[in-house]
Amino acid sequence: MPTVHSSPSIDEGLPEALRFHSPVPLVDIGANLTHESFARDLEATLQRAHAAGVQTLVLTGTELHNAEQAVALCQRYPSLYATAGVHPHHASDWTPQMHKAMADLHRQPEVVAVGECGLDFNRNFSTPNEQERAFEAQLGLAVESGLPLFLHERDAGARMCDILKSWRDDIQHAVVHCFTADKDTLYGYLDQDLHIGLTGWICDERRGHHLRELVADIPADRLMVETDCPYLLPRNLPAKLKGRRHEPALLPWIVREIAHWRGESEAQLAASSTATALAFFGIAAPSASSSKGPITGPGETPGEES
Ligand SMILES: [Zn+2]
Repeated sequence: MPTVHSSPSIDEGLPEALRFHSPVPLVDIGANLTHESFARDLEATLQRAHAAGVQTLVLTGTELHNAEQAVALCQRYPSLYATAGVHPHHASDWTPQMHKAMADLHRQPEVVAVGECGLDFNRNFSTPNEQERAFEAQLGLAVESGLPLFLHERDAGARMCDILKSWRDDIQHAVVHCFTADKDTLYGYLDQDLHIGLTGWICDERRGHHLRELVADIPADRLMVETDCPYLLPRNLPAKLKGRRHEPALLPWIVREIAHWRGESEAQLAASSTATALAFFGIAAPSASSSKGPITGPGETPGEES
């Protein structure tokens, strides 16, 4: 049973104007909480998330070390789950040893998806060949484990669609997280019955404009929401945030923006995206009686982790 810390400083990190409680519990399907920027106030971050109605978090594992860290956090705090994979940026690190280590992680009960994995031809930190090799290996791991996939794609939509086509019959569900591409790519994904993860990218009038006309085309049972924090601080916030670090407690602002462009209420989108996420990852709904208390842990600081 976790301890509930009634600290008056739960919201210390967020200005009053940014505290916004979702009318319906939310799932943040993409939170990079192993990022060093959360090392000092992880517990307060989790408490602020809970205060905002963000009751369930899926921590993104982008390489072996932080996937292991994410699993350790899940073991310490309730309502946290993890993905485990190798991001295309790190694809050049893929080895037979990595393959085995990832397969081991996928057997952990806290791990609910293979990934993030995929293709990123925007920056090519690993070569396209290395990326495809690591991606196909992880598609194989998804088949073996029976877990869904958490996919990353940037400037590689056509190739991603091609590769997925040959695996589609063998893999379970797959979500293209932080979708930012165009209409053709979206329809290519939906045609393959994939899920779509949306971030605060849509709040960015400089580069997210095209998404505003697209998001209403995503069926409610295919749409999930995520912060991708600490990255991608939404640009629709009514107050400045010191340090500009994005965090799960801000997810309701993203839901508000997406709901607006879909022509539905925040409560509707919150309810459908949460139901979709819980079903996708096979996660039990957080109990309404909150007998487990809010997301909070035994009071250790994350700094003790390493
Ligand atoms: Zn990503």
